[in-house]
Amino acid sequence: MPLTDAILRGIQQKIGGLNLISGVDEVGAVIESADGIARIRGLSSALNGELLEFPGKIYGTIFNLEKEEIICAILENHTKVKEGAWVKRTGHVIGISVGRSMLGRVLNPMGDPLDGLGPLAAESVAPLERPAPGVIDREPVRVPLQTGYKVVDALVPIGRGQRELIIGDRQTGKTTLAVDTIISQKDTGVISVYVAVGQKESTVVKLRHQLEKQDALKNTIIVEAPASAPAIEQYLAPFVGCAIAEYFMYEHKKDTLIIYDDLSKHAAAYRHISLLMRRPPGREAYPGDIFYLHSRLLERAAKLSQALGGGSMTALPIIETQGNDISAYIPTNVISITDGQIFLEADLFNSGLRPAVNAGISVSRVGGSAQIKAIRSISGTLRIDLAQYREKEAFSMFSSELDKETLRQLRKGAVMVELLKQDKNNPMPIEEQVVSIFAGVRELLDDLPVERILPFEAALLKHIRAKYRDVLRDIRKTQELPAELAETLKNIIENFKKEFLDVAIVSH
Ligand code: ATP
Ligand code: MG
Repeated sequence: MPLTDAILRGIQQKIGGLNLISGVDEVGAVIESADGIARIRGLSSALNGELLEFPGKIYGTIFNLEKEEIICAILENHTKVKEGAWVKRTGHVIGISVGRSMLGRVLNPMGDPLDGLGPLAAESVAPLERPAPGVIDREPVRVPLQTGYKVVDALVPIGRGQRELIIGDRQTGKTTLAVDTIISQKDTGVISVYVAVGQKESTVVKLRHQLEKQDALKNTIIVEAPASAPAIEQYLAPFVGCAIAEYFMYEHKKDTLIIYDDLSKHAAAYRHISLLMRRPPGREAYPGDIFYLHSRLLERAAKLSQALGGGSMTALPIIETQGNDISAYIPTNVISITDGQIFLEADLFNSGLRPAVNAGISVSRVGGSAQIKAIRSISGTLRIDLAQYREKEAFSMFSSELDKETLRQLRKGAVMVELLKQDKNNPMPIEEQVVSIFAGVRELLDDLPVERILPFEAALLKHIRAKYRDVLRDIRKTQELPAELAETLKNIIENFKKEFLDVAIVSH
């Protein structure tokens, strides 16, 4: 007998003749069932993450494999699973039926439609857990994913395949930023998946309506596990959304965008399940593997290599902070997993600065290389202007005599801060953003009163859209702003400003 066989036989005898290979038709028994958690004995060869079947076509997924017992979370109708019931292995991991018919639909994490628009046609099944693509399977992030917000696209640009965290206290505009990013994709061919975890159903209804009104629902799928849904559904929702995005990325070679709104509530759902399973609680009572939960989810965002079709998944996870505290456990974890973060602040929001992005501390580690040249060339100056403004602003409060240069910087900074404000549901195409920011950084707006800046911007863009369509087209097409075009743009803006100011004087 070869040595390896002898060793294997020895091991099998030692552990009691466990059959390591087959056993899919094994049947076990439920020894305890409460709160959606079942403790099971007798399925000695079941695997972690495997789907189990209970009487009445009820399913559960394995969370813990212990020495004698298996702990399983029941997916639906958990009250019908009683002590003493039989339970079978299925040999499958948990998956979701996917297909193109999901576009424009709202579904729960079990794949059931919630919008009353009839059943969904399945084309294949996507596993909820799947290894992230490796280094060879990826390409660098190079193509931009524009949010339509000047402050983000200019200062914290996002690239296709990137993971950018949106973080802030409650009611600071997190969801609005994410949803407007979806709206910006309506003509880009990007497929969006919006995952709502632990939110009010009415919020999701409004959001769906907004997407429909803006003609962006057609490319969007909403996965919803509201606050009233069982913790297991809230736990599964991001994985379901991710599996759907992966289906479009791998099988249809599409660029996809996924929003997890939000991972704080997802972490809370996981903590809830883990405590019911009597797993040892760690920091802030979260289980020890909470970091792994979010890292394995977010690692699946990628820009795929050409060999794999070149699709991508851009992930925008959202985290809610308490009192701006980003050093709490879940925020620090997710910050360390993502490629940058957009900080939204309640103080800024309440002072009327919307979107309330703190540009000083928001970063994007990979998006810069995906930014189009036209915007990159002007955003460098913008960043410096804003930094100087912040520095001098505080200082100017204590000093009455300011030199000319400081006054100029303060004036320019105030103009730029005003110019970066943007109303919700009003995403701006990148070529218009270029015009706007160009006017600001070239100091063409410095002689306008601050409250006239946004009205001027709107009027200017309207004027250019009507009379200089070719300028916008050239920026869009070439993605550049060469000196000649910049000069033309400058003249257009200056001439229009005269007109605008004349009208303003007459009307006063
Ligand atoms: P929550 O913590 O409740 O999830 P949130 O951070 O997701 O809140 P939103 O729901 O996006 O915040 O926005 C809060 C409110 O601010 C909403 O009424 C929204 O319409 C408004 N708002 C958000 N962004 C803007 C903006 N850029 N301009 C004007 N209003 C905005
Ligand atoms: Mg929100």
